[in-house]
Amino acid sequence: MDRRKQIETLEKNHILPQEELAALIVGAKPEDDAYLFARARAVRERVYGKAVYMRGLIEFTNYCKNDCYYCGIRRSAPHAERYRLSEEEILDCCEVGYGLGFRTFVLQGGEDLYFTDERMVSIVTQIRARWPDCALTLSVGERARGSYEALFAAGANRYLLRHETADEAHYARLHPGELSLEHRKRCLWDLKEIGYQVGCGFMVGSPGQTAACLAEDLQFIHELKPHMVGIGPFVPQCDTPFAGEAQGSLELTLRLLGIIRLMEPCVLLPATTALGTIHPHGREKGILAGANVVMPNLSPQTVRKKYMLYDNKICTGDEAAECVDCLRQRIASIGYELSGSRGDYVN
Ligand code: SAH
Repeated sequence: MDRRKQIETLEKNHILPQEELAALIVGAKPEDDAYLFARARAVRERVYGKAVYMRGLIEFTNYCKNDCYYCGIRRSAPHAERYRLSEEEILDCCEVGYGLGFRTFVLQGGEDLYFTDERMVSIVTQIRARWPDCALTLSVGERARGSYEALFAAGANRYLLRHETADEAHYARLHPGELSLEHRKRCLWDLKEIGYQVGCGFMVGSPGQTAACLAEDLQFIHELKPHMVGIGPFVPQCDTPFAGEAQGSLELTLRLLGIIRLMEPCVLLPATTALGTIHPHGREKGILAGANVVMPNLSPQTVRKKYMLYDNKICTGDEAAECVDCLRQRIASIGYELSGSRGDYVN
């Protein structure tokens, strides 16, 4: 199939055979990408118009019991200065965020054993009570099904858990043996069954990733049918075993955003901070490739530099308000509009 035909087939049927997907991922010419992005924008505008939804990201702990080879807050990162926010500090972030117009809060952190179900339920319960009109997203890694159920019952609505790669061998290249793709996927299916709006996702250009791996990622997205998909380029972090690896490419990340938009017309798709890190207009380009979400940082300024998943992360010196203003302008400059609504998944 030629590339246009592949793109049109994807738009109509929302999937292609594995080999066609792999072929679509590599070796596109700029005009092929331009066509893909135009189709992706048309689809996204049909569903969500020109709105770009904002999520306030609160990075509330950088303690982590895991040792993922790519991640700057892995348990054996020697220079990570560990912190965790108190319940009160987390609520303060929400308060500031609400004032700035956020109607979705995302609590993200390492897998920190301090945050037991009891502590997490208490935080979720208070956020739910104080801001009943807001969506609450959790991104705190793999937990027991009972834990996910308790947090959902307490008022959490959405859960982000990138699957990282859907290829077994590649998963083992990125993670120590104590972590498994099977368990990661189990968690995602559990979250979905419980009733969360669920986000999976992966890094683009992580060490050892091939076009076949990415085709498997797309296949998995097609099976899971998540409400959100978080993808961004892999960016090396100096304290990790992958410090010397190459970063993921802008072009490939954008192409995957476009492809995912065609596969899942209604999906909530962030233009990530990592994308903004590898190119000064990475997030704008992401939106023009089919993304419709941005996730500015609401973490207190005192801790931002400590949540260093990867090197050179942007916005670590800014106030939350500055980030929102900056993003609003950037989004307006490309003809889209930063939206103050909750931005739930549209069916
Ligand atoms: N502990 C939570 C949150 C992880 S951090 C969880 O397990 O879901 C959020 C995401 O950052 C990860 O899922 C990973 O895809 C991404 N990330 C981590 N290190 C990265 C790096 N070096 N470059 C780009 N993205 C990275």
